[in-house]
Amino acid sequence: MTSTEPNPASILATFEGRDTVVFDLDGTLHGGGRDADPAGDSARVTGLRVRHLVGVDDPFGAFAAFDRMVRAARPGMSKPAALSAWFGIGLAEMNRFRETHETPEAHVRPHPGIDAALDVFGSRFRLVLATNNSPRLARRILRLLGIAEDRFAVVVAAEDAGAPKPAAAFFAHVVKAAGTSYDRCVSVGDGLVTDIEPARALGFATYHVRGPRDVVQAARVLRGMLQ
Ligand SMILES: [Mg+2]
Repeated sequence: MTSTEPNPASILATFEGRDTVVFDLDGTLHGGGRDADPAGDSARVTGLRVRHLVGVDDPFGAFAAFDRMVRAARPGMSKPAALSAWFGIGLAEMNRFRETHETPEAHVRPHPGIDAALDVFGSRFRLVLATNNSPRLARRILRLLGIAEDRFAVVVAAEDAGAPKPAAAFFAHVVKAAGTSYDRCVSVGDGLVTDIEPARALGFATYHVRGPRDVVQAARVLRGMLQ
């Protein structure tokens, strides 16, 4: 479904007959996604890393320049893929840089009701966390959100999968790690290009959210279905 106001019938149709829900983290389970918030911390740190490569000293300006380059390159290209292809900065190297420079403690705040929403999802589905963030930062963010890691059957970071979203290899890794199949999964995320389109192409159902508010809304609808 699209990012228009979700309606109960389409939410039910999306989740019906599926056994696994694959959640994106940033911009989905908490606000201020890395791509949705160009003034955010991860944008600053990406800019810090590429500023000498794009010739813009200010980290936010460098991020904006890099973002324009990625968008102009080809549809669906991810920033991690661009960092690797253009500058030879691999996922592991960038993640170690992020872990040193990002401060999720300064900006990540739990969204009201998100933990209870995951309770609802968890009562019916196997839950997977699937993120392009670094494995360590993802776990730091979960702690800040008050979400226990063991709520998820599997946590997959791009570095674990060997490829970032939107690569098909990322989703193949997710499905294999979760012990299910594409047509039994729902991908829930705020990124049309990273979470929704590639997953749909592989046979996932998809639920495109504008943020954690839509995750809470879907849980409300599903809770009604469970009663
Ligand atoms: Mg996201």
